[in-house]
Amino acid sequence: MSHPTMHEYPAVALKPGREKPVRQRHPWIFSGAIASIPNEAADGAIVDVCDAQGGFLARGYLNRRSQIQVRLLTWDAEEVIDTAFWRRRLRAAIAMRAALPEVQGCTALRLINAESDFLPGLTVDRLGDFLVLQAGTLAIDQRKQMLAELLLELTGCRGIVERSEMAVRRLEGLAAVSGVLVGEAPPASVEVVEDGLIFAVDLLHGQKTGFYSDQRTNRRRVAAYCAGKRVLNAFSYTGAFGLHALRGGAEHVVNIDSSVPALELAEVNLRRNGFDPDRWTENIAGDVFQVLRDWQTNPERRYDVIILDPPKFAQNQATMERALRGYKEINRLALGLLRPGGVLATFSCSGLVGADLFQKVVFSAAIDAGRDVQLLETLRQSADHPVALTFPEGEYLKGFILRAACTSRDTNA
Ligand code: SAH
Repeated sequence: MSHPTMHEYPAVALKPGREKPVRQRHPWIFSGAIASIPNEAADGAIVDVCDAQGGFLARGYLNRRSQIQVRLLTWDAEEVIDTAFWRRRLRAAIAMRAALPEVQGCTALRLINAESDFLPGLTVDRLGDFLVLQAGTLAIDQRKQMLAELLLELTGCRGIVERSEMAVRRLEGLAAVSGVLVGEAPPASVEVVEDGLIFAVDLLHGQKTGFYSDQRTNRRRVAAYCAGKRVLNAFSYTGAFGLHALRGGAEHVVNIDSSVPALELAEVNLRRNGFDPDRWTENIAGDVFQVLRDWQTNPERRYDVIILDPPKFAQNQATMERALRGYKEINRLALGLLRPGGVLATFSCSGLVGADLFQKVVFSAAIDAGRDVQLLETLRQSADHPVALTFPEGEYLKGFILRAACTSRDTNA
């Protein structure tokens, strides 16, 4: 029997026996679980999801074009999806960050982490007095103006920019869009603070939303190994790991990135924080694979701490094998440049590569590099990028702090 609701939403019926994940509050319903979708329900509209007997299970939004045809918003039959609903969910996510120890004193953070903040498809980062919104689904795309206005009201920020350029939008039938949604347009460079360090961020043209706040906690953990050390920061982007390392007392940092604008911003960031780039760093524009390969035979290119923070290599199952080869290769090459007793901080932000698999990949890299490697710390995305337990898919960033042990392999080399 279905419960009476104030609003009547069209009902999507599940096939018999497919309700278990819905009851366990997984937010996604794949096309294969669905028996029927009423014609009157437009893509992007709110729908009820019912079991094969017509009993209410949950309520969410529809997109027939996506493999994930419904994303769930509530399991409460009484909860109407109106402006007040969106405001409540946004406010709860924002309040969580306000109380989060890990982000205190930081002005770059994730405010809304989509499914893991019970707002499927919506990602919002705060960067200083501006917000960057990413609409990952059709329903969020349709409502982004309203959501931006609510966010402006709830945060008191100056303006909200859209950077909806993620590949996943194609699966929803959406093209890439960017621009100002509400409020002021941000200046070409916005300054954010992370643990007292200042970073210039280009909101409209920077990568992703402009700053990788998911690595905040890991930058702290890695910096703690850097006092007095020679550090190699590969895939450096605007040099955030490098600046944390220098502030932690590093003797010298080499940044490598293929993006020249990112390295230019890294130099701006160094100066802004009182480090003369010529004294403290070498910034190399190039392909990490190539540069690390070239250095294997050069004994001057040996480091005490190496950071590997590559982009997402595994976009989907089809690219998995190639991605794993890539991870193995850069880790093998990095281990080859590590001094005995040196530390490797290695990351993968591919959601499809779980921590166990990533550890196996690094293990086989260590075998090939001929190094005895100890695992010191395991790392993950920072706490402003939470993972709802109902949505393990939200876990994507994993990392290890490893040590190349001083063993006979080194002394005999
Ligand atoms: N560690 C950074 C974020 C890295 S994002 C931080 O903490 O802010 C990944 C970076 O890798 C991007 O800046 C991208 O330009 C760079 N990149 C991607 N492929 C590369 C390659 N083959 N060689 C060098 N840099 C690469």
